[in-house]
Amino acid sequence: MIIGTTVLRELKAEINEIDYKRYIKQLKFKDKLSNSYFAVYEAPNILIASWVKTKYKSKIESLFENITGNRYEVDIITKKSSKKRVSSNTKNIPTSQNQTLLNPSYTFENFVMGSSNQFAFTTAKSVSQKPGILYNPLLIYGGTGLGKTHLLQAIGNYNIGLNKNVIYVTSEQFLNEFISTIKQLTPTEKFREKFRKCDILLIDDVQFFSGKEGVQEEFFHTFNELHQNKAQIVLTSDKPPKKIAGLDDRLKSRFEFGLTTEIQSPELETKIGIIQKKCELNKIDINSDVINYLASNLGENIREIEGAIIKINAMSSVINKPIDIELAKNILKDNLKENTSDLTLETIISLISSELNVKPSEIKSKSRVKKIADARAIVIYMARQLTPNSTPKLAKFFSMKDHSSVSKAETKIKNLIKNDENFKLFLDNLKNTILNN
Ligand code: ADP
Ligand code: MG
Repeated sequence: MIIGTTVLRELKAEINEIDYKRYIKQLKFKDKLSNSYFAVYEAPNILIASWVKTKYKSKIESLFENITGNRYEVDIITKKSSKKRVSSNTKNIPTSQNQTLLNPSYTFENFVMGSSNQFAFTTAKSVSQKPGILYNPLLIYGGTGLGKTHLLQAIGNYNIGLNKNVIYVTSEQFLNEFISTIKQLTPTEKFREKFRKCDILLIDDVQFFSGKEGVQEEFFHTFNELHQNKAQIVLTSDKPPKKIAGLDDRLKSRFEFGLTTEIQSPELETKIGIIQKKCELNKIDINSDVINYLASNLGENIREIEGAIIKINAMSSVINKPIDIELAKNILKDNLKENTSDLTLETIISLISSELNVKPSEIKSKSRVKKIADARAIVIYMARQLTPNSTPKLAKFFSMKDHSSVSKAETKIKNLIKNDENFKLFLDNLKNTILNN
């Protein structure tokens, strides 16, 4: 297959000469590891590999697609990693049972129910008691740190206790295992035996399948077989399946066969309950004033809340003083959100408006003119980074439809940062200007 080389020749025509000589020219196409929808190149070292991945991977993938008409996934490996892969994969050939690693503390008992997660919690619990019968699949979606993985694994922990064959993987792990079957490092039968013959399949973060057609096709068949056998499937995702771009319609409709339920951001009472629970589990002694203070001053990401509690506890034992509000305040000062709590939305808007030459009133308007909408998205991004404003609060402030419009703006900027080094620098400078203001 010379296609791998042809693609690089095409790429050469489109990029600058230095990049080509320094990086692209160094790549070796690995015929034996590639097939008609997966292409592997080997780079001489990890630096070149990661650099090519960041800057040109999607470009190379689209060239493959233009030339062959097939959707490709491209991987850049190094000599070392290809060797490592072979050995680790032969070692890890799944033994179909009990290779699932679950966090034992992710149980239903340790999950605090509140109105933001009540429906997800109760359906997850019923599914774990009657797998394959009630809702199949069950799909739980919601923002990061809101407890999706916890609930998914709680279903797993409950059923492992009943000696059911439970498989838990992130969709990224599923993809990696699938790729190793394509590369013939693991036999296809082993892979299928593992995923198609279990009682309960738990797949975390399915939004990661987006745009990856090969693995979607495989998962489609896995899904159908499991569903037919009345094995329970539970999925999580950061958004409802309908909104996952690059997900095959057939899969979208399969995902919605059963029940889809959302976990929302926790309200104050739930946050308080969660903090109490975490302190109880970790034997941290903390009074209700401090708990209230933390619940009202930290954001809605429960992972971050947990981090803060651990930090406070550590500090209290270092300085040998009980946890009180003063200590909590001091420690949260390091926390950017707390540190900049004096920073108001108005300040951010006024700084960004002068920087981008857009009027504050325009930023606060509903105008969709690109320049204005972009400035608004940047304000939202900064507000999320630097202030404790929740997405619903920002939605209200900007008279947007709901919190998802705020998240969309935030994601838009995050994606730009990922893909554009200059833009990232620009935003870093802007952030400094705001913080030093
Ligand atoms: P997600 O998968 O949605 O990003 P996780 O399930 O990883 O979030 O949750 C992040 C952390 O917050 C975990 O340590 C989890 O135990 C904790 N957590 C989230 N929601 C709750 C809850 N309702 N009760 C107790 N702990 C929670
Ligand atoms: Mg998760």
